[in-house]
Amino acid sequence: MIPYARQDITPEDVDAVVAVLRSDFLTQGPAVPAFEQAVAARCGVKHALAMSSATSALHAACLALGVGPGDLVWTSPVSFVASANCARYCGASVDFVDIDPQTFNMCPRALAEKLARAAAGNRLPKVVIVVHMAGRSCDMAAIRELTARHGVAVIEDAAHAIGGSGADAPIGACRHSDITVFSFHPVKIITTGEGGMALTQRDDLADALVLLRSHGITRDPARLEDPDAGAWYYEQQRLGFNFRMTDIQAALGHSQLARLDAYIERRHLLADRYDAALAGLPLQLPLRADAGRSALHLYVVRVDPARTDRSRREVFDGLRARGIGVNVHYIPIHLQPDYRRLGFRPGMFPAAEAYYRHCLSLPMYATLDESQQDSVVAALHAVLA
Ligand SMILES: *Cc1c(COP(=O)(O)O)cnc(C)c1O
Repeated sequence: MIPYARQDITPEDVDAVVAVLRSDFLTQGPAVPAFEQAVAARCGVKHALAMSSATSALHAACLALGVGPGDLVWTSPVSFVASANCARYCGASVDFVDIDPQTFNMCPRALAEKLARAAAGNRLPKVVIVVHMAGRSCDMAAIRELTARHGVAVIEDAAHAIGGSGADAPIGACRHSDITVFSFHPVKIITTGEGGMALTQRDDLADALVLLRSHGITRDPARLEDPDAGAWYYEQQRLGFNFRMTDIQAALGHSQLARLDAYIERRHLLADRYDAALAGLPLQLPLRADAGRSALHLYVVRVDPARTDRSRREVFDGLRARGIGVNVHYIPIHLQPDYRRLGFRPGMFPAAEAYYRHCLSLPMYATLDESQQDSVVAALHAVLA
């Protein structure tokens, strides 16, 4: 089976991990800050804080921004459930803003309309979490402009997007947001096994994130309420979690980071090959024109119902039967049973639901070779013939 995504582990990665295994620190050692500094430098951001996953980074980001019971957080319905669940962990309620059917990202026009209605009804969200779907940046300048008018904070869920850029900055620079979150799950662009990172330009948010990822505990003498208690002393200053990344993971991520540009290059080359090879099929190919540069985590086609009688399900099953590990990203979050129980219904976000009916993620990862890609294309031709 050719999977839709997979990690690339080199001998250098293995050596980096083994070096940590032979060292004094498996966690809370020097590999974590070294990885953080490398990511911060690459993204042009002041603070980069490694976490146990993007999910925990999103959770901590919401808490750092003050999200709590009674608050409202908005995100995109076309995302992994973690983009919405993070708000619920804080006791907040979730709502969604429909997507732009071309970019698959939160639609700025839909956001503007929903913000206007929310302002009139005195029910504005505290935070909007935008998702750079498939690695393509949202229109961050527009989103910041719309939200800032109402004092709404912005988190970028950039789980798909490390190595990509927006119109005017690398993703992760937080030029138009408060916090950006990356994922290092093995299906993503670079991996640490499990792992994530929260990036911010703001010192106050970085301080909160550091506390939240380690039980709310500090040993920093400058921050202690009782600075003279003794050298053993630490204080829990708020309720935090164990959201730490290990040094083993950080060493792997740091080693992978050296290949990030090559990975993005390769993904663009594979996307160019798909664009050319699939042009004649009854598929809507993903929009490639971009004010920035996508990290191309996913290559999402849509089975075009105007040009074929084959359903997405038939195409999906036909490809799987031929050993092609296609996938569907994503089932709209509001249609999950756990969200329907909160009152969400089909029809509420029609662009997201229309996207979902036809979307299919083709294999896309740096080590996918041309002959494997050609077999994906051949299988698509056979299934759609
Ligand atoms: C993968 C993913 C996450 C969760 O990442 P983890 O590191 O697995 O917690 C969150 N948001 C999006 C959009 C993702 O694709």
